[in-house]
Amino acid sequence: MRLMLLGCPGVGKGTQARFITEKYHIPMISTGDMLRAATLAGTPLGKQAKEYMDQGFLVPDDVIIGLVRERVAQADCQNGFLLDGFPRTIPQAEALAANNINLDHIIEIDVPQDEIIKRLSGRRIHPGSGRVYHLVYHPPKKDEKDDITGEPLVQRLDDTEEVILKRLRVYHEQTAALVDYYQQKANETIHQGPFYSRINGLGTEEEVKEKIFAALENTAIS
Ligand code: AMP
Repeated sequence: MRLMLLGCPGVGKGTQARFITEKYHIPMISTGDMLRAATLAGTPLGKQAKEYMDQGFLVPDDVIIGLVRERVAQADCQNGFLLDGFPRTIPQAEALAANNINLDHIIEIDVPQDEIIKRLSGRRIHPGSGRVYHLVYHPPKKDEKDDITGEPLVQRLDDTEEVILKRLRVYHEQTAALVDYYQQKANETIHQGPFYSRINGLGTEEEVKEKIFAALENTAIS
């Protein structure tokens, strides 16, 4: 099962990705997490990516395409994977298709913009695992500490209001075109996939999860 999550930053892709990958036993490929890991490790790729990420810009397509191509070739991706945060531009989507990496189901999560700003500015993450918390909606058990390891949570540098607004603008300018791109592909090949589902991302994490699972089960491909 090759899945992709699509939607603005802050719609809950990372949280839902964890539910989906647990249920379907497929790896999650989050380009944002991969880039943050490279940045923490101080690799040349990480240093290059950090400048774009901190300012809310996209990392160049060729860098990110190379990274994903290598990742999906690994053995754990043989039975499928879930892409979170990739593709983010039409050239990235075309690179996937050119490499015969065809998706079975695209799940778009849709949340109004004012709600997104609230969500992102309260977001905290555990850098080691990528676990996501929210100071109001999903607080950790102990103040700003990861529930499992007790390690401190951090706010992403790009979760400040100024950078959030830039990231939303970048989404509308460069990524939103993928909605039409994949809807068109889905319409051309009805009943064969890729399937396209738009999910209302308002509500609790559990409610959104149930809607996504229902959409995946209705079009079950394995
Ligand atoms: P995310 O965690 O998905 O919100 O990604 C954080 C940042 O990583 C983005 O704002 C971009 O700077 C960079 N990034 C992640 N995925 C991609 C991608 N597919 N293409 C370009 N830049 C990306």
